[in-house]
Amino acid sequence: MNIILLGPPGAGKGTQARILMDARNMIQLSTGDMLRDAKESGSEMGKIVADVMARGDLVTDEIVIGLIREKLEGDKQGGFIFDGFPRTLAQADALGKLLAEKGETLDAVVEMQVDDEALVARITARSTCGDCGEVYNDLTKPQPADGKCSNCGASNFKRRADDNAESLKQRLMEYYKKTSPLIGYYYAKGDLRSVNGLGEIDEVKVAIDQALG
Ligand code: AMP
Repeated sequence: MNIILLGPPGAGKGTQARILMDARNMIQLSTGDMLRDAKESGSEMGKIVADVMARGDLVTDEIVIGLIREKLEGDKQGGFIFDGFPRTLAQADALGKLLAEKGETLDAVVEMQVDDEALVARITARSTCGDCGEVYNDLTKPQPADGKCSNCGASNFKRRADDNAESLKQRLMEYYKKTSPLIGYYYAKGDLRSVNGLGEIDEVKVAIDQALG
């Protein structure tokens, strides 16, 4: 099964992708994570995208499509979870073609609906484990008191450089201008399943399971 998690920044795509990965042996393909890795490695591409990401703009379709193309060559296990990709209509078309070339199909697009007020609150409270990617939230899921990640035991918590009010404004603007048209695009294709992303992590998980059938 190949699925897309679609939603604005802070909707909980990464958190739910990790749950699906564990529960269904799927592979998470997060273009945001790939770009952050490229930035940290200091590669040429990483240098090109660093400023774009810090501002909250989208990087070029060419770069992210190239990243996804490469990953689709690898092991697919229980299927791919596209997290943060596609973000433009051109990316959506490219994904359709890449999957078709591999004889794969897109089985569902799960739209995670969260209101804007909640997004701002979630993002400004967000941190992750730098080793395993476990997601924490100062209000709803604080970092453990012993300073160790509950998933892997590392003491390497990070806050994203672009999780600040200024970049978030731009990321939301990019979402509404360039990504939200994908909701109509996938609705028309018959792939869209919308879930309420506002509840507790477990409630959203159940809603996604139901949506996937
Ligand atoms: P994310 O971790 O998904 O919130 O992505 C962080 C940042 O990486 C975004 O604000 C963009 O600058 C960039 N990015 C991630 N995925 C894409 C994509 N599919 N298309 C363009 N830019 C992306």
